[in-house]
Amino acid sequence: MVDKSAPRSGTLTARPAMKHLLDTTSADLRQWLAAHGHPGYRAAQIERWVLENRAADFAAMSDLPVELRQQLASEFQIFTSQIVSHRQADDGTEKLLLQLADGGRIECVLLRDGLRRSICISTQVGCAMGCVFCASGLDGVDRNLTTGEIVEQMLRLQHLLPADERLSHIVAMGMGEPLANLDRLLPALHIASDAKGLGISPRRITISTVGLPPAMDRLIELGAKYQLAVSLHAPNDELRSRIVPVNKNIGLGEVLAAAQRYLEASGRRLTYEYVLLAELNDRPEHTRQLAALLKGQTALLNVIPYNPVAGLPYRTPTPAAQRSFREILERAGVNVQFRERKGDQIDAACGQLRRSTPATDTSLVTLESPAS
Ligand code: SAH
Repeated sequence: MVDKSAPRSGTLTARPAMKHLLDTTSADLRQWLAAHGHPGYRAAQIERWVLENRAADFAAMSDLPVELRQQLASEFQIFTSQIVSHRQADDGTEKLLLQLADGGRIECVLLRDGLRRSICISTQVGCAMGCVFCASGLDGVDRNLTTGEIVEQMLRLQHLLPADERLSHIVAMGMGEPLANLDRLLPALHIASDAKGLGISPRRITISTVGLPPAMDRLIELGAKYQLAVSLHAPNDELRSRIVPVNKNIGLGEVLAAAQRYLEASGRRLTYEYVLLAELNDRPEHTRQLAALLKGQTALLNVIPYNPVAGLPYRTPTPAAQRSFREILERAGVNVQFRERKGDQIDAACGQLRRSTPATDTSLVTLESPAS
């Protein structure tokens, strides 16, 4: 909204700040169009240009009147972030470090796997959950991302694809706790799943959570149909509270019960995530406890062997330890899948996303061009 109050002494700017187009709802855009003498159907045209046709500026919107394009350009920005770095790994993974308008930094990732084009997006600058093995929360949380900033990550990553390829899957598994920012995440996921948006089926959109039961219940109330992945990481409260500190106020029982409620309400497949940390949560006694906990559940256990984070003391279990972990669970009838490590060459693997790269913290760097 335009601030009509007189500028404070010392401020020279009479011009209102630029609006973020991706943070403007269709209804608000139609209102703005009406106020500027344009028909409401232009809103859908503009949205199609941005979401479907990958337009990065208003000048490209060739079926809009030139005057409207100019008015839009003088009041709106399509992208408000800057790309600080763009890295590409040999396995096809690409990672963007984005600097937001207020200087906050986030990362997002594109993963290629066969025909899949999956993206992993952040929901907060930093993270407040404090999981001891994760890079994202090392400095706590700064703020929630806006809906527009979440959608912007999707579009920036979409722009990395050739014109004949589309995004197929989204995981809200980057920096931050998605369920701590549900009010901004859900409109962004709506744009992702809407046929007039990115058209990605909710079945191919996953929200990964540390397990916050009240927010999980809100997802149920809202009728959300996204996949849910619940980060478990330990088979008992004593250990879970040590490595996932928010567990102290929640408890494993509550987390599992809320996950079960979501499964029943959504009809979706439930996934538990388990970061495998050498000697800490990978011993036979942990494995047996975990098997007992998950026995009879229809859930999938997604095991993520620890991805090293600079400065943290944890270790990835040996292949033999990983094998024995898998075998004990499989023998107990648990549906286990090991997550393939992708992007670790460029610190883009799970848990390696952080709000800044130490080496490039102070200035914007030029694009690191993908290996040709
Ligand atoms: N806050 C959400 C989503 C972000 S993390 C959550 O807790 O689920 C996405 C997944 O990566 C989580 O399961 C998280 O525990 C895991 N992860 C974090 N650090 C990791 C690391 N160093 N190695 C492997 N996985 C990690």
